[in-house]
Amino acid sequence: MKLTKNFSLNELVHPKFLVIHGEQCADFLHYRLAYTLQKIRDQFGRITVNGKMGEKVFTNSGLRLPHSRIGAKNSRHKQGVVADCKFYDATPIKVQKYLLEHQDDFPYIVRMEDAKITKTWLHVEVGKRPLGQKIKVFKP
Ligand SMILES: [Zn+2]
Repeated sequence: MKLTKNFSLNELVHPKFLVIHGEQCADFLHYRLAYTLQKIRDQFGRITVNGKMGEKVFTNSGLRLPHSRIGAKNSRHKQGVVADCKFYDATPIKVQKYLLEHQDDFPYIVRMEDAKITKTWLHVEVGKRPLGQKIKVFKP
C-alpha cells in the first residue's frame, strides 16, 4: 500500500505487522510520519527505512513490535512516530543540519537523535510540536 509518492506501508512497519494485521496496520503509524518523510525525500533523494540497502536488510527502522528488544524498552519506535532514515545521496549529519535550519518547513518533527552519534542513519520523530518550540536533538 502506497502512503505517499515514494513510501509504502511495508517500508515503515515491521514485516510481522503486515502478516498479523494486513494493511490495517497503516493505522498504527502517525498520520504525519510518511508525509514528513516524503518532504525530506523530496529534498534529499532516495531514503531507506525498512528494506534492503546494499547487503543489509532493515526491519526495525520504523514501527517495531510491542515486545521488541531492539533499542530502548519504551522506544518511540513502538508508537509509530519514528523512522530511522538511511540516505543514498546525503549524509545524516547534512540532512539534520538542514532540518534544524528549516524547522518551519517541517512542523511535525519533534525530536531527532544526534546524527553525529548515530552516524549512518537519522532518527526522525514526528508528533505535535507546540508553536514556537524547536526540534529537540538528543543523544541516543
Ligand atoms: Zn531510531
